[in-house]
Amino acid sequence: MEFEAVIGLEIHAEMSTKTKMFCRCDNDSFDKEANINTCPVCMGFPGQLPVVNEEAINKGIKAALALNCEIQTYCKFDRKNYFYPDSPKGFQISQFDEPLSKGGWVEVDVLGKNPRKIKVRITRLHLEDDAGKLTHVRNGSLVDFNRSGTPLMEIVSEPDLHTSEEASAYAREIQKIVRYVGSSEADMEKGMMRFDASVSIRPIGETKLYPRAEIKNLNSFKSLESAVDYEIQRQTDLWNEGKPLISPTTVGWSDEKQETYFMRDKEESDDYRYFPEPDIPPLYFEKKTIDDLKKEIPELPNVKKKRYMEEFDLPEDDARILSDDLKLAQYFEAVVAKSKDAKKAVSFINTILMKHLREELISVNEQKVTAEMMVELIELVNAGTISNNQAKGEVFEEMYMTGANPKTIVDKKGLKQVSDTSAIEAVCKKVLESNAQSIADLKAGKDKAFGFLVGQVMKEMKGQGNPQIVNEMLRKVLADL
Ligand SMILES: [Zn+2]
Repeated sequence: MEFEAVIGLEIHAEMSTKTKMFCRCDNDSFDKEANINTCPVCMGFPGQLPVVNEEAINKGIKAALALNCEIQTYCKFDRKNYFYPDSPKGFQISQFDEPLSKGGWVEVDVLGKNPRKIKVRITRLHLEDDAGKLTHVRNGSLVDFNRSGTPLMEIVSEPDLHTSEEASAYAREIQKIVRYVGSSEADMEKGMMRFDASVSIRPIGETKLYPRAEIKNLNSFKSLESAVDYEIQRQTDLWNEGKPLISPTTVGWSDEKQETYFMRDKEESDDYRYFPEPDIPPLYFEKKTIDDLKKEIPELPNVKKKRYMEEFDLPEDDARILSDDLKLAQYFEAVVAKSKDAKKAVSFINTILMKHLREELISVNEQKVTAEMMVELIELVNAGTISNNQAKGEVFEEMYMTGANPKTIVDKKGLKQVSDTSAIEAVCKKVLESNAQSIADLKAGKDKAFGFLVGQVMKEMKGQGNPQIVNEMLRKVLADL
């Protein structure tokens, strides 16, 4: 029997707000001492009243709008009751039957061997607060409540995904979008984005959904892909053995063993005894509030990508690299606006600059080559002062390392490209004098010899000859022989 996998994702993204979801504690605890950003509210002391963070609501609405979700005119918070040591309140404040938003969708580029576009429906985006963090040590467990009460967006997809590749591409698209609208930094390394993946299998041709396994708490794209692949294979084997899953289960993922392991039967909503949060009144949104927030949403990555392809006649891959990251897109646009040379801007940014950013895992704002410097570099090439190779090679490398201006580097290194025709003519003559064999080869129709001679001239000129003039001059001198 042939099977297909049916996959849905729940994505949790920590929101980049100044303070926590329901109290005024600092929401930035990266590299901070444990339990320093806490107060009676996020520690769950009795009698403390939560107050909803308006910034979190607004950023949640912006993310939901960017995901084409419908903002509900009315929403409320609910208590999701469970006991675990990382939750001092004994419940999580989440949204159950009246979430912030419902019914969105997102278009996703799936790359790889069989590139395609898929549309993934989004069930809902709701808000909740995060739990603390447990660290298991030899003699017990340590708990840090700095994260307790951090605002979270939970983005739930419909089961529209069918491979680990699609799941990962969808998760990356969500990461791009929540970053674009400024709702979350979604930095996987810092645990700001986590996934739960629900996986089930069904014989191809069937439309019903079979019991699923929900893989909890995946914290990298790589674990997401590996865990989904593992689970698809495991369930396919179970089907083939005639004993498919008969009820939903919750499983964990071991990066070490590269396998999923049973945690518990899947809890249903009844198990959480949801009830309306009595300390937070329901929220009602006016159309104007939502319209105002809509205006703050920048051009989104997919739209930007399409515009770059049309406006600058870029191949899709180049347009995607530039539009994937808002800061890089802004940098590119600044360079194009001043240099009026989109082709060179793309070629310089996507190759030489991106190579460094990828190697060092940094953003365009964390390096020394400003958009103005990039413009100056392009202008030096377009004015014929230096060659493309000099620009992309030693000049850019020096700019990147030291932050010096390209003009200063060119002057200091004496790198000017030689466009003086009489100087080039002299070198051409000299090279031809000592390469009689190549001239004979050329006469015998071996065109490759011409390339060799150009190379010799360039070598003689230490790479500083203007390639176009070298070519023209060499042909002229050869014709005059
Ligand atoms: Zn607090």
